[in-house]
Amino acid sequence: MAGTKRELLPSDVLPEHYDLTLEPDVEKFTFDGVVKITCDVQVATDSISVHAHELVLSSATFTPSEGSSASSAESITLKTKSKMAVVGFEEVLPVGKGILEIKFRGTLNDQMAGFYRSQYTDSKGQKRFLATTQFEAIDARRCFPCWDEPARKATFTVTMIYPANLMAISNMPPSSLETRADGKKKEVFMVTPKMSTYLLAFCVGEFEFISAQTKSGVLARIFSCPGNSARCAFALKCCIKALEFYDDFFGLPYPLPKMDMIAIPDFSAGAMENWGLVTYREVALLCEEQTVSATQKQRICTVIAHELAHQWFGNLVTMEWWDDLWLNEGFANWMQTFCSDRLYPDWHIWESYVGMEQQRALQLDGLRSSHPIQVPIAKAEQVEEVFDAISYCKGGSVVRMIYRVLGDEHFQKGLQLYFSRHKYGNTRTIDLWNAWKEVLGKPIDKMMSSWTEQMGFPLLEVLNDPFTSNQVELKQSWFLADGSKETNDDAKVWFCPVIVGTDKGEAPVSFLEEKTGKIPCDLSGASVLKVNFGQHVPVRVLYPEKVFMRLVQNLKLVSAEDRIGLLSDTFATCKAGVLEPGFMAELLSGFKDELNDKVWSELASVMGGLEKVIVQGLDDETASAFKEFCSKLVLPAFKHVGWDQQSSDDDNQKKLRSTVLSAVAKYCYKDSAIAAEAVKRCKAFVADPNDPAALNADIRSAVFDVALQSAEGAEMFDELIKAHETVKDGAVKIHIYGALGKAQSSTLRKRALDFNLGGAVRSQDLIYIPMAMAASGRDGAEATFSWMQDQYDRIYEMIGATSMMLFQNMVRVSGIGFVTEAKAQEVSEFWKAKKVYQNVQKALAQTVEGICSNAKFVDRLKTSRAAKAATWTAAAAGSRL
Ligand SMILES: [Zn+2]
Repeated sequence: MAGTKRELLPSDVLPEHYDLTLEPDVEKFTFDGVVKITCDVQVATDSISVHAHELVLSSATFTPSEGSSASSAESITLKTKSKMAVVGFEEVLPVGKGILEIKFRGTLNDQMAGFYRSQYTDSKGQKRFLATTQFEAIDARRCFPCWDEPARKATFTVTMIYPANLMAISNMPPSSLETRADGKKKEVFMVTPKMSTYLLAFCVGEFEFISAQTKSGVLARIFSCPGNSARCAFALKCCIKALEFYDDFFGLPYPLPKMDMIAIPDFSAGAMENWGLVTYREVALLCEEQTVSATQKQRICTVIAHELAHQWFGNLVTMEWWDDLWLNEGFANWMQTFCSDRLYPDWHIWESYVGMEQQRALQLDGLRSSHPIQVPIAKAEQVEEVFDAISYCKGGSVVRMIYRVLGDEHFQKGLQLYFSRHKYGNTRTIDLWNAWKEVLGKPIDKMMSSWTEQMGFPLLEVLNDPFTSNQVELKQSWFLADGSKETNDDAKVWFCPVIVGTDKGEAPVSFLEEKTGKIPCDLSGASVLKVNFGQHVPVRVLYPEKVFMRLVQNLKLVSAEDRIGLLSDTFATCKAGVLEPGFMAELLSGFKDELNDKVWSELASVMGGLEKVIVQGLDDETASAFKEFCSKLVLPAFKHVGWDQQSSDDDNQKKLRSTVLSAVAKYCYKDSAIAAEAVKRCKAFVADPNDPAALNADIRSAVFDVALQSAEGAEMFDELIKAHETVKDGAVKIHIYGALGKAQSSTLRKRALDFNLGGAVRSQDLIYIPMAMAASGRDGAEATFSWMQDQYDRIYEMIGATSMMLFQNMVRVSGIGFVTEAKAQEVSEFWKAKKVYQNVQKALAQTVEGICSNAKFVDRLKTSRAAKAATWTAAAAGSRL
């Protein structure tokens, strides 16, 4: 966007090397530091500006490398608002190299940012602390004075001074370790490659690890707090396999001698790709492979694949500035799936991608309050607002599209060219397009910029019956989730790859560059036609009724990806008012024999989306008929999977059981046999919460949910809270939070929310109870929103000051259960009156627009076939209206 001026440090002095010494005190929660920065003074100046935040800078000197002796700083001025320090000298510093040395002191904070402390309980029940770092996006400056901008790459030598009973790790292996006269260890780490400040990392504490080596001799280690090393094996296996895969695929071996990964008890994001020392939430790294749920196992693999992709995409080659954040995150989002698919082909994980990541992208990007993938960022602080589904999921979806257009060979060759050309440097989006353009010999930048520089995506409308003409006539228009139309909306056009296919095969990729176009397609002998065949492009599709019904009646001829696409497109187009919502009944009932776990996951999500508006917006009779319809849809799949894991079950079958049982928990919990079985299993769990054999992990969440909604719900509520005290596995805790949030009475809801702030729940996990509650229905949504209003100060203190990303999730949760304009207004007014508003504007605008589009959906439903109980009763009986 024109006129957006970046706020950067002056470029008259540039850093080349940091020699950083730190001495943390993990009991007093402070640290002392000295940094000697080799700088290049490009313009003679009497002051040097660096980033520094929440640090006390006690002294500074500058020593030119040629001639003169050190000058002491005359002044050190902290600029709190801009998180900077200006070091002033009496004389002018000459052009050329020199060393800026600064002594400083800081706090090991409890806010999961900068150099911070994390707490855990050891095997003797004692509270212990460790010190760790989280610098992305702009918190390296909370640890040491530096040029905290991604383009100001430098090399680093880290020296750590710490008590002898502890251990320290950093990006690089140690080069020396000595015990000082005072008994403390002084460990110097090898000099890093040229890199950005946000990727520096170190951890100090009592750790255990296991290790192995890759084919090329890179040492891989998985670290955890004591007592967890048995839960590191799966992560180590994924780490080795993924590193070897990337070495090969990127054509440039991992450049560091080692790769450490560590599980941190308090961690604000899922993981962080620090070069050579990746930090994780415990649940994203640790598990027992034999008993872990299939969902968590796949998450661990994809998160590791994501962070390791960053070692090249992000660390070796880094975006020049935060407005190209998507280059890091979008690419890693795609690559995490590509790599996991190569590691575990039996998972069919691309089906998950289409259902989860691609849908998250389309949901957010269907709003007017969305933003382009390439988004102007003036102040670095603003980047916190774009670590969202657009940068990650739409970015990834656009990579999926270009992969399909280029083909495997050109895609890989272009990437290899990009890495060899830009290694240790910084890039903009155009540099990636240029690399692909060169290997392909065709201009792809025109196509790609229509996806990355403008927000939104098109609805492709099939205008004819292709079965009578062997061609598909298409029209594209900006798809908006609420179906609204404003002047100039029609001006948007995408350069859109179109892939059409049938049950007989797919046509080559065509392109729609204008508003309308005709795509040739041989339909002889075909029963179905699917546009966006394989779901490679982030678009929605609308068919004429005849073409649509052919798909509905022949779902068995349609791939899992395309069944997912059909479900989500139909729901979204009904919601937007371009398709009669009654078609949802026909479509959903077509899935009564569905047994694919990823398709079931999409089915559950669509049923949930409909339930919210039908139950809150329509009469009780229709609502019950809809719920009855859902329960009848779920039961055959439930019969197929049952409660118990079979020895022949693969991960897909385990995930199917997990998803289907969660749907059972939602629609069949009143069934007395189901309730009794869940209570029995929940009781077995609470008798020994740390025995993984007591309750299978795949069905754990569903069992808790049903048990809490049963006649014995109040008792189970108490038992789960008690179990929480002793549970060690974070994944189990998350399932407990989900169940507590779904409690049915107002008394239990209040207790669940009080428990959430009572000190037993880590601030990183504060979102789970309100999220489950807000999504549980109107009463839950009201209770959650009132709680946020009443407890605002406390919530802000616990996570607002810590992580804007966590806080933005709170804003989103405040609106997820509502479906009226009046509520949209209330939510909007509440957050706008808060000081934090300026940091959550995007999240709030998207939340409010989401509520309003549900309100419009309710209005549309009221005049549709879907508002008649008979529609759902007939669909449940298997007859199609
Ligand atoms: Zn990432």
